[in-house]
Amino acid sequence: MLVDSHTHLLRLKASPEEAVHEAAEAGVGAIVNIGTNIEDSREGMRLAAATANVYSVAGIHPHNASDHSTGNLEALSEMASSGGIVALGEVGLDYYRNHSSADAQKALFEDVVSLANEVRLPVVIHTREAFDDTMDILRCARVPIVLHCFEGGEKEIEEARERDYFIGLTGNVTYKKSETANHLHLINPERLMVETDAPYLSPEPLRGKPNFPKNVVHTASFVAEKLGMGEEEFATLTTRNARNFYRLPLEV
Ligand SMILES: [Zn+2]
Repeated sequence: MLVDSHTHLLRLKASPEEAVHEAAEAGVGAIVNIGTNIEDSREGMRLAAATANVYSVAGIHPHNASDHSTGNLEALSEMASSGGIVALGEVGLDYYRNHSSADAQKALFEDVVSLANEVRLPVVIHTREAFDDTMDILRCARVPIVLHCFEGGEKEIEEARERDYFIGLTGNVTYKKSETANHLHLINPERLMVETDAPYLSPEPLRGKPNFPKNVVHTASFVAEKLGMGEEEFATLTTRNARNFYRLPLEV
């Protein structure tokens, strides 16, 4: 069984129920839905409560950092204490698109990391062209961290390894230009997860098409082969890692 450890069920070109069902048929037995703002985090929490094998994470994407307010932080804190979410995220820094100013992004990110320390929930990190600043702010984190949609090379893998962070590998690791794909053996296997980030970043051979949680199987078999592991062994390893990171009630 595989886990899609990072997906956006509310944005798919299919109903969440249908996507979850198709994923299960493809051997993807658990799905972690990620929030990007207060509304979709709340909706995701409802979805997880109503749907077997779906777990929910609440956060505010750095793109939405300029809307950040104390009210938002209170809303996240409420969701965290309700027990309905398994982590906070996605949060972080995105200097590639810069939809919000760097200062607004940093302020939000710091607030959510402090909240995570308080409520003891792991944090799902989005970082794009902002690795050093991201790692700087994360120095304050006292909870497990995953660098989602990881696209770093040797240096970034080494830093993540030193801090004992998890690494989430997405469909883009299967693309020809992926730097990460050349250094997979440097990643601590106990800290490795796979994800789709659906509806974005469809793995090869589906690149360019809308993505779905079931497609994590392609990323998994690509990485397993690169690491010289059997598909089943790789599935067990990454499912166990996802269970450990998000504290999912899975038997692996
Ligand atoms: Zn995402």
